[in-house]
Amino acid sequence: MNQSKIKKSPLQRVKMTLGVLALILVAACSKVEGDGTPATRGAEQEVIQVVTTTGMIADLVKEIGGTEVNTVALMQPGVDPHLFKASQGDIQKLDKADIIFYGGLHLEGKMTEILEKLERHKPTVPVSKDIDQAVLRSGADINGTQFDPHIWFDVKHWISAAGTVRDTLSEYDPNHADLYKQNAEAYIEKLNALDAEVKEKINEIPESGRVLVTAHDAFGYFGDAYGMKVMGLQGISTAAEYGSKDVSKLRDYLVENKIKAVFVESSVPPKAMEAVIAGAKEKGHIVKIGGELYSDSMGEPGSGADTYITMVRHNVNTIVDALK
Ligand code: ZN
Repeated sequence: MNQSKIKKSPLQRVKMTLGVLALILVAACSKVEGDGTPATRGAEQEVIQVVTTTGMIADLVKEIGGTEVNTVALMQPGVDPHLFKASQGDIQKLDKADIIFYGGLHLEGKMTEILEKLERHKPTVPVSKDIDQAVLRSGADINGTQFDPHIWFDVKHWISAAGTVRDTLSEYDPNHADLYKQNAEAYIEKLNALDAEVKEKINEIPESGRVLVTAHDAFGYFGDAYGMKVMGLQGISTAAEYGSKDVSKLRDYLVENKIKAVFVESSVPPKAMEAVIAGAKEKGHIVKIGGELYSDSMGEPGSGADTYITMVRHNVNTIVDALK
């Protein structure tokens, strides 16, 4: 499927039109009621309605907004943000939201247009916006000028995202700025501890074995931050096709470097990685699937990976157990 085809689909057009109509309605209503600009919390407003794209971002907003926010993620566990398209129901949720948080850096590649429209009417904030561009991953391996959007796997970048959420909520709702500050401080302390925990854990893998092979390139920041070489079969976005050349290149690398395990991802079908493993076996090298990592989506409720912190911990434990 190419992009122009998607843009021209009649369903998409209907969705867009509905979205715009709803936006006009929302704008008209707030003018009639006259309770201030939509960029700040109204006096009679009970709870701030926040809509996020991914579950990780919703988790972050809940931590910092506490009881002052009601947060809904559009993407359910296991959903791939690179391929996600907003349904009519999603657009209604976005239209009703007071604040929208998303990943940015083209993580939600198929939602760019909708998010840009919403930005004109309400705070619509990429949580990656305060990360210094100099530390963002870019270059030839990341499709030219685009930055790598998978910032959450360097816990330090997620600390920046926490600051962005705190500042956005405080600006919208200055009366509770102290609360957001306190919540952010407490959560950032936990994130700093998590960052230290990950570093310590990775040290259990012998240096030569610190190679993380996954279905798509979601773990670049993780590799940079915690000292692992990272290889993905599919590139930065799952929207890119992989070919037999990618499979054989990765297979040869595994064989030559005697890599023990590769990892599948909860939001990417495992078929591609199975082909690599079969190829290595034909060449006489047994590679096992080291486990399932949560890359672009958290786990189901009760999975033990249904918050950002438990997701990172699950991934690190899975990686270390398979490679140490
Ligand atoms: Zn991804």
